[in-house]
Amino acid sequence: MNSQSTKVLRLILGDQLNAEHSWFDEVRNDVVYVIAELMQEQRYVRHHIQKTAGFFLAMQAFAEELSQHGHRVHYATLDDTAGFDSLPDFLADVMAREGIAQFEYQRPDEFRLRQQLADWVADGSVVARDVSTEHFFLSDEALSEYFRPGKAHRLEHFYRKMRERFDVLMTDGQPIGGQWNFDAENRKRLPKGLEIPTPLMFDNAAEPVLDRLKRHGIETLGSLDGALGWPVNRMQARTLLADFCLRMLPFFGPYQDAMTDRGWSLFHARVSFALNTKMLSPQEVCDAAIAAYNERPNEIGLPAVEGFVRQILGWREFIRGIYWANMPNYATRNELDAQGELPRFYWDGQTKMACMRQAIGQSLEFAYAHHIQRLMVTGNFALLLGVHPDQVDAWYLGMYIDAVEWVEMPNTRGMSQHADGGLVGSKPYISSGRYIERMSDHCRDCAYNVSERVGDAACPFNVLYWDFLDRNSVRFAKNPRMRMMIKNYERIGLEDRAAITAAAESIRARRHEL
Ligand code: FAD
Ligand code: SF4
Repeated sequence: MNSQSTKVLRLILGDQLNAEHSWFDEVRNDVVYVIAELMQEQRYVRHHIQKTAGFFLAMQAFAEELSQHGHRVHYATLDDTAGFDSLPDFLADVMAREGIAQFEYQRPDEFRLRQQLADWVADGSVVARDVSTEHFFLSDEALSEYFRPGKAHRLEHFYRKMRERFDVLMTDGQPIGGQWNFDAENRKRLPKGLEIPTPLMFDNAAEPVLDRLKRHGIETLGSLDGALGWPVNRMQARTLLADFCLRMLPFFGPYQDAMTDRGWSLFHARVSFALNTKMLSPQEVCDAAIAAYNERPNEIGLPAVEGFVRQILGWREFIRGIYWANMPNYATRNELDAQGELPRFYWDGQTKMACMRQAIGQSLEFAYAHHIQRLMVTGNFALLLGVHPDQVDAWYLGMYIDAVEWVEMPNTRGMSQHADGGLVGSKPYISSGRYIERMSDHCRDCAYNVSERVGDAACPFNVLYWDFLDRNSVRFAKNPRMRMMIKNYERIGLEDRAAITAAAESIRARRHEL
């Protein structure tokens, strides 16, 4: 780094790879951009090897791209940062060595990092300025127009406001097609003969990164055999998005909840890593899907494009609002007082339950499972079993290529574990094996029987589902969305209820061997 003329250090975190940021509108000789592989980011949770490799490769590619555009960049590998326990220690060292007095940063999206940097600059030893990441539809300031701490919010209401505010899929102030939501048409099981497209994978050499991880004793999860298939630069990310619009989008709507042994990403976009690292903006992802729909309306159909836009303009922004309105307390919520332990097979996929084997197996292999697998298979099972939300959070945060706390935590602790008491969802997402049977082809090759409620061969989801209702029927008695489930439970005789409780206890005792 040539320190003579450097006056400003601008930090770019691994999830701030936004090439369109206004920082880069002009090339300034007095600014150095610092991008660093940090030890502290390897230690707060154990990550999937593809996640760490993906972040590092994307950061490197971003640094190279900035340099090619004439910006001055200092890229620090783990070899350079290994001696620093924390990000502030590392930054303080660079600034002292180079004689830089001014520090600028994009506000981190994770509470942990935002707090850390705010604390560091609070003592006034550096001149600091924070700016927006210029990524989301809603700015940090606008979030408080919609979200209040401790208050339950509902996606549908928020989503409509977002459609109106950003004029997305609207005509004359009304939703295109006369409906806000086409979900009823979007919950189909996969037809047997329907061909599932082969996912587009890239060929990103990862050896140097893997060598570094090894050299520094970084423990990871899952596997990476050969090249990394996830996009690590903007061009690859845009190619993945275009491929989704071309091949998957027409089927995304109807089959977004479907699960199968025949494929691991079906008709999903797999753009969450590119979005969460900010290689893609949510606006351009929505625009691309809408443009494809406008060009091929008969082939794609409104339910598909609306369903996809709702995930990004709706869910993604909604989840972020919940996170920022409720942190840091959100991270300790455990409304259902779950105290159990995650079964060991979450870490190796070795289970006789076919649905769990598929969801966990592909997560270990690709660092990916789609939403319904996360919610209704692994999440549902942890909730029914009564696993402590800290353990569930750590698993999701480590496992997935797209896992960054602001989006992982409200999805896991909130939507999937109901540990926030209903801030994200009005009811817990629980189901027996029947839901999985309806939406997948897993049950036919399973060691368990989805038709049995108790007994050695009974599907564990069934036993635990009825047991959950038994344990929580009073708590949810007044919840209108739970009424039907509780009514069904109340039809079960006392003797059968006792058998369910005993079977659930046995499952908990054998949880590692299921
Ligand atoms: P698609 O199904 O193709 O959807 C398109 C995009 O919509 C996604 O890329 C994502 O950006 C957005 N989206 C869809 N659903 C959600 C949602 N519920 N919240 C926020 N954005 C959404 N998503 C993450 O990005 N990071 C996480 O760490 C994460 N953890 C999750 C944990 C649990 C327990 C659950 C139930 C969901 C989690 N999700 C998370 C949401 C969702 O599962 C993923 O965004 C999605 O599976 C990513 O794959 P995709 O890009 O193929 O998505
Ligand atoms: Fe999953 Fe139960 Fe079906 Fe087996 S029977 S695949 S455990 S839902």
